[in-house]
Amino acid sequence: MSDAKHFTVIGAGIVGIACASYLQRAGHRVTIVDRLPPGEGCSFGNAGLISPSSCVPFSMPDLVWRVPRMLADPLGPLAVRWPYLPQALPWLVRFLAAGRPRRVREVSRAMAALHGRCFDAYAPLLKAAGAQDLVRRSGTLYVSKKENGALGDALTHALREAAGVKVDAVGAAELRQLEPALSPDYRSGLFFPDNGHSVNSFRLVQVLAEQVVRDGGTILRRSVGGFRFGPDKPRALITDEGEMPLDRLVIAAGAWSHRLTAQLGTSVPLEAERGYHVMLPNPGVVPRLPISNKDHSFAATPMENGLRFAGTVEIGGVDAAPDYRRAKVLLQHGKGMYPGLNTEGMTEWMGCRPSLPDGLPVNDVSPRFPAVFFAFGHSHYGLMGAAITGKLIAELASGAAPSIDLAPYRADRF
Ligand SMILES: Cc1cc2nc3c(=O)[nH]c(=O)nc-3n(C[C@H](O)[C@H](O)[C@H](O)COP(=O)(O)OP(=O)(O)OC[C@H]3O[C@@H](n4cnc5c(N)ncnc54)[C@H](O)[C@@H]3O)c2cc1C
Repeated sequence: MSDAKHFTVIGAGIVGIACASYLQRAGHRVTIVDRLPPGEGCSFGNAGLISPSSCVPFSMPDLVWRVPRMLADPLGPLAVRWPYLPQALPWLVRFLAAGRPRRVREVSRAMAALHGRCFDAYAPLLKAAGAQDLVRRSGTLYVSKKENGALGDALTHALREAAGVKVDAVGAAELRQLEPALSPDYRSGLFFPDNGHSVNSFRLVQVLAEQVVRDGGTILRRSVGGFRFGPDKPRALITDEGEMPLDRLVIAAGAWSHRLTAQLGTSVPLEAERGYHVMLPNPGVVPRLPISNKDHSFAATPMENGLRFAGTVEIGGVDAAPDYRRAKVLLQHGKGMYPGLNTEGMTEWMGCRPSLPDGLPVNDVSPRFPAVFFAFGHSHYGLMGAAITGKLIAELASGAAPSIDLAPYRADRF
C-alpha cells in the first residue's frame, strides 16, 4: 500500500491489540507499547461476555432513586470509597445525568450500533490467528430468583425492541432445561440466543497479539510518561526506556488514557469502574451457558480454565489497593446459583474498567492533532467493543468512510 504509515499504539489490552490488528489489515505498520505484557490490564479478567444485544445503558432514569440504598452497602454491586468521593463527584453527577430518558435512548442507539457488529468484527481477526475456538456464540441467560425479576422495565423492553434484539422470556421449568446446573430457586429468565462469550478473554488478547507480531508488528514493554512536541505535533514518546520517535499515534491505554490525552490538550472525564472476579479452576459443576445474575448484578461464565464470577462496580480510582471482600461476596452469591460448588484453588482479581459517564467509548481523532487517534473508555463492554473499534480506528486513520456514524463517540462530547 503506497500510503502505508507507521502507528504507535499505547496499550496492549484487547482494544489496543484490535486497533493494531486492523491497522495492519489496512496496510500500516504498528508498534505497540505497554508497561505490562499483552492482556494483563483490565482485559485479563473480564466476564468474557460478547453480547450484540447489549443496548441498555447502566445509567437509567430510575438509577438516581436507587443509588442511595446501593451506596449504603459498601460491599454491594455499586460502591464508592468515601475518601475518593470528592474526586469522583463530578463524574458521578454526569453518570446520573446520562440517565435522562432522552439521553438514554441516544446512548442505547450508539451501544447497539457498536455491539451489534461485535462478532462480525472479530471474525477476520480470529480466523487469521486460528483462534475461532476462543469465541463461542452460545447464547446467554439473565436469571433472577424473583418472579419476573429478570425481565426488566418498560424502557428496557423498548430499547431492546428498537435495537431489534432477539430475546425470549423463560420461566422456571425452561431455565432448568437451558441450564441444568442452576439452582431450582431461580424462577425467571431471559434467553439471548445471538449472544456469546470468550472462553478465555486473556488468552484471546495473547493470541491476537502473537498474530500482530507474526504480521510484522512489534510489541515493546515500556511505560509512557508523556510526549516531546515538535512545532506541529507530538514527535516522540517519552518512556522509561528513553524516547521513541513518533509518526502516528493511537491511545488505547484503558483507564489511564485521560492522563495521556490531557498532555495532548484534550481533557476527558474518564473514571475507573473497578470490578472483581473469582475464578474456580475445578468448580465441580458444568454450566453450559454464561449467566447474568440480575438479583446481584454479576456474571457467571464457564471458561476453558474454570468457572468465573465477575462483576461489581467500585469507584475508588486506579491507584487504590483491591478490596477482595468484594470478590468474596461474588463467591457467596455464586454458591447460591450452583449447589455443590467446589472452591478449591480459587483465585481473585481486580481490574479497572475505563469508563466515561455515559458508558460509551471515545473512538475519535484527537481534536488537536490529526495524526493522533483515541480508542478508549469501553467501560463494561470493552471485550465486545474492541474489534469493531479497531476497524473504525483503521478506517479513520486511512481516511476511509467509517462503517458507522462516529458522532456519539467523539472526544469532545462532554
Ligand atoms: C469484572 C469485569 C467484568 C467485565 N466483563 C466484561 C464482559 O463480560 N464483556 C465485555 O465486553 N467487557 C467486560 N468488561 C470490560 C472490559 O474488560 C474492558 O472494557 C476492557 O478490558 C478494556 O480494554 P482496554 O484495552 O481498553 O484496557 P486494558 O485492558 O486495561 O488495557 C490498557 C493497557 O494500557 C496500558 N497502559 C496504560 N497507561 C500506560 C502507559 N502510560 N504506558 C504504558 N502502558 C500503559 C495498561 O498497562 C494496559 O495494559 C469487564 C470488566 C471487569 C472489570
